[in-house]
Parts: sequence; structure tokens; C-alpha cells
Amino acid sequence: MTVIESASPERRVVQSFSPLTGELIGEVPVMPAHEIEEVVDRARRAQESWALHTVEHRGAELMRFRDALVDHAGELCDLAARENGKPRHETLLHEVLVAADLVTYFAKEAPRILAPAERALHLMKHRRSVIGYVPRGVVGIISPWNFPIGMPLRDALCALFAGNAAVVKPSEVTPLVMVKLKEVWDGAGMPEDLLGVVTGFGAAGAALIDAGIDLCVFTGSVATGRRVAAACGERLVPCIMELGGKAPLIACADCDVERTARAIVNGGFANSGQACVAVERVYAHREVHDALVDRVVELVRELRHGDPAREFCDLGGITFAPQLAVAEAHIDDALRNGARVRCGGKRIPGWAAAFEPTVLDGCDHASTVMTQEIFGPIVPVMKVSSEEEAIQLANDSHLGLNAYVFTEDSIRGQRIAERLEAGSVLVNEVLINGGMPEAPFGGVKHSGFGRVMGEEGLRAMCHVRHISVDRVKMPRKNPLGFPYTETSYRMFQKAVRAMYTSGGVLKRLAELF
Ligand code: NAD
Repeated sequence: MTVIESASPERRVVQSFSPLTGELIGEVPVMPAHEIEEVVDRARRAQESWALHTVEHRGAELMRFRDALVDHAGELCDLAARENGKPRHETLLHEVLVAADLVTYFAKEAPRILAPAERALHLMKHRRSVIGYVPRGVVGIISPWNFPIGMPLRDALCALFAGNAAVVKPSEVTPLVMVKLKEVWDGAGMPEDLLGVVTGFGAAGAALIDAGIDLCVFTGSVATGRRVAAACGERLVPCIMELGGKAPLIACADCDVERTARAIVNGGFANSGQACVAVERVYAHREVHDALVDRVVELVRELRHGDPAREFCDLGGITFAPQLAVAEAHIDDALRNGARVRCGGKRIPGWAAAFEPTVLDGCDHASTVMTQEIFGPIVPVMKVSSEEEAIQLANDSHLGLNAYVFTEDSIRGQRIAERLEAGSVLVNEVLINGGMPEAPFGGVKHSGFGRVMGEEGLRAMCHVRHISVDRVKMPRKNPLGFPYTETSYRMFQKAVRAMYTSGGVLKRLAELF
């Protein structure tokens, strides 16, 4: 879809168009900063009572939302098919199922994960320390357009389980789906202001950061991530950055060619490659390279393109039309650097924004297609001569979100995985870790910092509070405190040496005398 800002200054709107037919689907208001502040203020008031509930109670409430989400799955899949140009299977399986499963998992596990826990103290054994997880308040969530249900819900649900309110700023490219999700939330009888939605362009995201949120979870491009992190830094708002990816796939000499080829096609072309975890570059060992590329090309030729809002097809539209020019620029640059187009390579005529699934081989690491995020239906392949070369090239990137290794030898898979600079490495699989609520998700290098999902991600939605209390009755006068005398200094000097000197008990005891 494309975005147009209405010319009328008194009623500014974001208009949402189908990426395939170009028809206007709907519009949402461009909210001014004071309205965004009001949404955050209302969310804060709703959060005060939400935080008083037990984690179990919050889980039971969120299960009600889960059921409503599943009841409305058909409408949501239809809307995303129109607004994103995304096949309905993908909305259902990659977004609705993943969100429903995340609720199911955390409804069971969040009480354990967020339970206060005693921390044994090795030195100050006379005290008892308890670590607790306290809701932060209002979590501001700024989302991209490629998973308009999955991304905002992943973060909002974790924020809510942890006792926060959530205010979501969906992408201006696909705002209608989040507005529909809010209707589902309200329709399920959930506390209305606990989940807020603010709409508009980038300025609405900036206003959300300014509106007094207590944590910002940003998912989007590296360029915007820098601006958001700087704005958060200026206001000392903690933030989690989920940014771009450039997932390498290493096909080892012993990989199962058929399985690897199918994974490359799924990983490279699901959602037309518009995924931060998409297979964005393949390093194929020379022993399997030719067979693998031939099979990938055969499978890609079987993919059916169409308008997912009207038919069942494998590939739909390019949601954000400027990505078409990005795809073309990558291909031109790759061809100048000696690559070959094995299939695809062009826009699909007759549609507002659609691009052929494209496979390039003979790629060179000087090409942008191997080094910069593509975010479109292009899979570039490079032939390598060794495992070591593949690892070096895979790590030669400023991004590090997901990485994939295909081998029939699990020890080799583990060994390579441990050397890859990425937040998550999957052996003999692609994409699926986004659907593992147990596992933390996030990147290294310019792919961001902080984690969502998993115990780590759920706890990141909280302040960590340490409470330390007496375990035994202590003397009124602290022997380590005032007055500081020469005698006590000499005594402590001996004690420190006795406690922290290597060489055995006798040597340490000798320090006391
Ligand atoms: P984007 O950075 O253009 O926009 C993301 C969001 O930021 C939008 O809602 C936008 O309105 C908002 N925004 C823009 N300027 C802002 C500002 N100054 N202050 C606050 N908010 C502002 O990203 P996009 O094009 O929508 O999404 C694609 C990118 O997202 C890709 O790079 C992709 O890899 C990445 N992504 C990452 C993950 C992940 O989990 N790591 C998941 C999905 C997508």
C-alpha cells in the first residue's frame, strides 16, 4: 500500500491503499501530540488497577482477548490481505496463531517467571535478599508495517502480562489492522484504556516517546531506530530496539539439498521477503551449490502470485511501494558486480506494487544485495569453498538478527551456530523462532539491543526491585561504620587480606596475625 497525507490542514489523515489494486481501503487520523498525551494519561490510570491484580488474574483476562482474537481471525486475515497484500495463510499462521500461542504460554508461565525470588548472599549471610519484578507503567510500542498484528501484539501482550499498560503506534503504512485489533480488544470487554492506539506518521511515534512513557519498544528500520534511541536517551526513557536483519543461510556440503532448497524458498519469499528474519543471503558450499540453486529456482517457478484478498496464492504485494525501487537498485548493483538473475528480477505488471520472486547467483560480497537489507522477494546466492569462508562472510555484516545453518551433522551445526554473530541461530530451520514464546528474540550489532519474548523479554517489561531485610537480629552499632580509627583500619586490613588472599586456608589465617 501507499500512504497519502490529506491536504486539508484541519483534518489530517493517513490514507491506506491496497498494494495490489491501488484502491483506497480506509483512513485514520493523524493525531496531534496533545491527543497522544491523553491516550498515555488514560493508559496510566487504567494501569494502576491492572497492576494490583495477580499475574494469574491478568493471564485469565488476556485469555479472553485471545479467544476474541481467534474469533476475529478471518476478518483480520482479510483486512491484512487488503492492506498489506499478504496471503491469508501468513496472517493466520505467522501472526494470529503466534499471538494466541504467546498468550496461552505466558498465561501458564508468567506467574513463575515474574514471581519474586530469594537471592542467596555469599558474604552478607545475615541478610535476606528478594528480587521482584515490578511493572514499569506505560509501555510505548512503535511498530513496523510488515507484521501489523504480530509485532504490536508480541510486545503489547508481554507488557500487559507484566502489569503494564500498552500504547501502540502502528506504522502509517498499515494502520487499519491495529485499529481493528483495538476494536477486538474493546469488544472482548477488556479494560478499554489499558491498550491504547495512536495513529499518524513518524511524528506520532516521536510524540509518544515525549508523552511520558516508561519504556519504549521500537521495531523498525536501523535509521529510525537511531532517532528513536536518541530521543529515548534524551528523556532517559529505557528502550528495546528490534531493528533490521540480513539473515545469512549457510548450506554446508552435507546439507539435505531438498530440505535446504525448500527452506530457502519459504524463508526468502514468505511475505514476499518483507520480514526482518527473511533469508537475505545464501552461502552455498561448492559441492551442493549448483544442485541447490537449480532446485530453488524450480520451486520458485511453482509459486503463484495474485491478490490475496481475492484468491489463495503464495505471493501478494509489496506493502510499501518505495521498496520496489530498492529491489531494483539491489538487482542492478548485483548485475554490475557479476551476478546472474536465475529467475524473476522485475516488477509484476498490472498491479500497483508487486515484484517477481527473484533468485540471483554468482553474487559478490561487494554488492549491496549481500550487505544491505533487501526487505523484498530477492534471494542472492554466493558459492563458498569451506565452512570457514561461509562463517567469515556471514559475520561480515553490520546486522545480526537471525542466522541459519543447514547440515546433516548436528555437531557441525552447533559448532557453526556458536561462531555466528546473531541473536538467534536456527539449524535446519528458518523463521520459526518468532513463534517460540519461550525463547528470547532480538539482535546484535545494528540489529538492535534488548530482547522480547522469553523469560528475558517478559522481565524486561519490569523494573527489577531488590529488597534486603534482616535475617538475624544485628547489633545496633554497625562495626563497619564510624568512627574510623587507626586500630579498626589495621584490623580491617588484616581481615581483607585474610578473606581475599590466594594460597589456602593456612596462608589466609596467617594474615590475621
Ligand atoms: P520504519 O523505521 O520506517 O518505521 C517503524 C515505525 O517507526 C513506524 O511506526 C513509524 O511511523 C515510526 N517512526 C518513524 N519515525 C519516527 C520517529 N522519528 N520517532 C518515532 N517513531 C518514528 O520501519 P518500517 O519500514 O515500518 O519497517 C521495516 C523495518 O523493520 C525493517 O528494517 C525490518 O527489518 C524491521 N523489523 C524488525 C523486526 C525485529 O523484530 N527486529 C521485526 C519486523 C521488522
